[in-house]
Amino acid sequence: MAQPNGFDGRPGVTDTLGRTLRDLRISVTDRCNFRCTYCMPREVFGRDYEFLPKDQVLSFEEIERLARAFVGLGVEKLRITGGEPLVRHDLPDLIAMLAALTGTDGSPLDLTLTTNGSALRALARPLADAGLRRVTVSLDSLDDAVFGAMNGIDFPVERVLDGIAAASEAGLAPIKVNMVVRRGINESSVLSMAAWARDAGVILRFIEYMDVGHSNGWRLDEVVPASELVEMIRAAWPIEPADPLYRGEVADRWRYTDGGGEFGVIASVTQPFCRDCTRARVSADGKIYTCLFAVDGHDARAVLRSGVSDAELAAFVEGIWARRGDRYSELRSAATSRLPKVEMFAMGG
Ligand code: SAM
Repeated sequence: MAQPNGFDGRPGVTDTLGRTLRDLRISVTDRCNFRCTYCMPREVFGRDYEFLPKDQVLSFEEIERLARAFVGLGVEKLRITGGEPLVRHDLPDLIAMLAALTGTDGSPLDLTLTTNGSALRALARPLADAGLRRVTVSLDSLDDAVFGAMNGIDFPVERVLDGIAAASEAGLAPIKVNMVVRRGINESSVLSMAAWARDAGVILRFIEYMDVGHSNGWRLDEVVPASELVEMIRAAWPIEPADPLYRGEVADRWRYTDGGGEFGVIASVTQPFCRDCTRARVSADGKIYTCLFAVDGHDARAVLRSGVSDAELAAFVEGIWARRGDRYSELRSAATSRLPKVEMFAMGG
């Protein structure tokens, strides 16, 4: 049962550092049609790579039941992710099931999805009709050569832009666009992406390249710090910081003072935000993770398949959150970087 007085004053469960459980990211598949060099490089995730067999992936019914347990404990936001969530068959059916859930105060949930956009032209409308409220699309450059090299399959920019247009036509707004910035790879795309986002009316968010997983060969000198990104934008347009919309928001928001909308920076490497982290993650195979940099997850699939009652399932989830004390990004050091971390596509980005 949700207790009164989460750190935001609303009912919820808190962890050992006083952080309230408010949002859940659900990975619906570990598969992806892209091979982004910083996430699922094709040298590692080639033809022979063994993805999860179907029976190990949570069914829609299992996902809905687990999400319902989280929502009963105070979760207000659900984000569907992957892998690439749009490669999961019949995804609108799951969206319809999740859209029927309401928060502990009876209000609708913030139901959203992160996608590479490649299948949005076909799926934006069915997803919106099923109850999806908005989307975040990942796009790292408007330059085909740069983007094609980063996505690992030469996927054209134009098709992602068309997917974003489809999302807009379907009313999945506000649309956010995530751009991972890597030094020497796509820094040169920062200003053109910002100019495009201002014109298109989408909220661009620059993400610092993170040391998730082990496959991407991450190096600190490839991280472009958020502060540097902000200065690049400030040199081109007038900007001022904007207040967070809620405690635990991952992006620092900036407003263009000439009416050009806003952008965000997600500085998980240079300005970790562990102290306000309200997120849990469920991987496609039903493991609950309380940190993106976790070494291990908690096996909710085994619990779900053991015939527990809803109350027992909720107690399992609540116990995990109540014991949570992780703050990897604040402790990041040579020692933590050697820990065996789980890949982002597996855990759900
Ligand atoms: N396939 C979907 C997509 O492309 O958005 C959802 C999953 S993807 C893992 C979620 C987000 O994580 C994307 O915006 C991606 O760019 C970002 N991401 C993946 N690896 C990253 C890394 N090492 N550092 C920062 N962001 C990363």
